Amino acid sequence: MSVEIAHNLETIRQRVAAACQRCGRDPHDVQLIAVSKKKPATLIEEALNAGQTLFGESYVQEFIDKQQSINGTPHWHFIGALQTNKVKYLTGKTELIHSVDRLSLASEIDKHWGKSGAVARILVQVNVGDETSKAGVPVDEAIELVQQLATLPHIRIEGLMALPPYAEDLEQVRPWFRLLRELAEKIDSLNLPNVSMATLSMGMSHDFEIAIEEGATLIRVGTAIFGARE
Ligand SMILES: *Cc1c(COP(=O)(O)O)cnc(C)c1O
Repeated sequence: MSVEIAHNLETIRQRVAAACQRCGRDPHDVQLIAVSKKKPATLIEEALNAGQTLFGESYVQEFIDKQQSINGTPHWHFIGALQTNKVKYLTGKTELIHSVDRLSLASEIDKHWGKSGAVARILVQVNVGDETSKAGVPVDEAIELVQQLATLPHIRIEGLMALPPYAEDLEQVRPWFRLLRELAEKIDSLNLPNVSMATLSMGMSHDFEIAIEEGATLIRVGTAIFGARE
């Protein structure tokens, strides 16, 4: 098992490097998040031992439980849908929250991080495909939301995140990644204070290479590292 996770990580690193080479990007500009939701702490420790330091979790309770039991010091990102009443449990435990899609949620994060004198790093999740089943601010409301969030003193907006519609044919996914990048460029051009658009979180196990070609700086890969989830 141990060998397998190390092997999977190595394969993904090679595919990231190849994708970067194809589009003339520096592989150091693409960070791999190992998405460990629904996977036990032991597998996270195996990935840590294989040199993977950054992990993504989607469920607050599961994350808190696991995070306490792990040997080692992984860096954590929170990537899942987040209920406002659960924000307090995440305070200080995660380096980047990818899934901020409404003012009420951001205000709660601002309040809790502010209490400890910290600034929360966040991404704004955009529902690029306008899917009712998915979280994220609609594309045409994203700029207004970013402008509102930018006024919160204990929030730092670092970019955008998306979970585009699934398609077997990866060329059908590409336009969604491009849309997110173009939206980030548009927001960047507004030069809003407290807003950076340096981070684009997009691409998962089946489509991370296309996402890299379209500008992803964070890719979120679960299955291709840890195997299928229950
Ligand atoms: C589960 C999940 C992933 C990882 O998906 P895989 O297809 O297993 O790579 C990425 N991003 C988010 C937001 C997720 O919830």
